[in-house]
Amino acid sequence: MIPLTASEGQYPTWQKSLANAITDVDQLLSKLALTRDDLHNAVDINPDFPIKVTASFVRRMVKGDANDPLLNQVLPYKVENQIQPHYHRDPVGDLAANRQDGIIHKYHGRVLLITSGACAINCRYCFRRHFPYQDNALSSPRWQMAKTYFRNDPSIKEIILSGGDPLVISDHRLQGMLAELEQIHHIQTLRIHSRLPVVLPERITDDLVNTLSNSRLRVVLVIHSNHSQEINHEVKQALAKFNGTDIVLLNQSVLLNGINDSAEILANLSETLFDARVLPYYLHVLDKVQGAAHFAVEEDRAKRLTGEMALKLPGYLVPKLAKEQPGWGAKTTLAPSMAKPTTIRR
Ligand SMILES: *Cc1c(COP(=O)(O)O)cnc(C)c1O
Ligand code: SF4
Repeated sequence: MIPLTASEGQYPTWQKSLANAITDVDQLLSKLALTRDDLHNAVDINPDFPIKVTASFVRRMVKGDANDPLLNQVLPYKVENQIQPHYHRDPVGDLAANRQDGIIHKYHGRVLLITSGACAINCRYCFRRHFPYQDNALSSPRWQMAKTYFRNDPSIKEIILSGGDPLVISDHRLQGMLAELEQIHHIQTLRIHSRLPVVLPERITDDLVNTLSNSRLRVVLVIHSNHSQEINHEVKQALAKFNGTDIVLLNQSVLLNGINDSAEILANLSETLFDARVLPYYLHVLDKVQGAAHFAVEEDRAKRLTGEMALKLPGYLVPKLAKEQPGWGAKTTLAPSMAKPTTIRR
């Protein structure tokens, strides 16, 4: 038997940290010894997509640095309110329609389940910024429906828990879900897409590690980090709890103008991740969501960046440059582009 969470009935530390996330621009700025003036009054203090960031993530920002790559992933700017051509409220197309019942079955063999509407951090570039799904938590009837859906389709081998952030649900709830998925024989793999291991490392509780490593399902945890500065000692220690388990750790990033759009920064991220036993998986081209245009990196430049990475790193540390195109049977990947054959660097 899997023991229940010791802390059932009271809130574990990580839930308190989650509840205490910073949701006020001036509060964030004051923690960083910055003023609105330092940011040329370009900051939006009352954005439609609210500001939200964990104290732990803020501690990794450099005080007094208005260009900090972590800060600029979460700080709302007025420029977000400019309407840009080719940018949409729902760039992935099927969001509004498919997410009603929390199931997105677009690709062969794997189904994505919206497990929670909430996140611990609101990333300004996120495609869900116009659909924060705060009320879209996985209710019990929706979970029953999802299970029926999985049971009735033997081609489904993998369930992907996504969101929002699926790890905002309690260990107890996750244990229950896992136990029920394990009973569906054709399901082999559970994948979890979560930014919590990075932005709220205390979420990696011993209970969570035990639950995931005791499952009959193969477990893949895809974390989300965009810059090596995010991977501090705390995060490394949290990820180290997976050492010796057979849980596969991968990372996905989004390519972001002004944050990580250099081969140097990306290579550094890959190496830092590898040091924490995490392999880079996808580097996403930004979804063209209204309000995020200032983060865009031209596709040609993106391909050159992964090309440069390929010249610096072993192949397994070069993420696949991926793009979501509505209607395709898989994510499209863009090949790295290299200027010309280079001489061998010994
Ligand atoms: C990205 C995604 C997946 C997973 O795709 P992989 O290429 O296997 O990582 C599955 N379903 C949906 C809807 C997705 O957007
Ligand atoms: S879904 Fe991911 S990218 Fe979007 S706000 Fe939440 S953590 Fe950030």
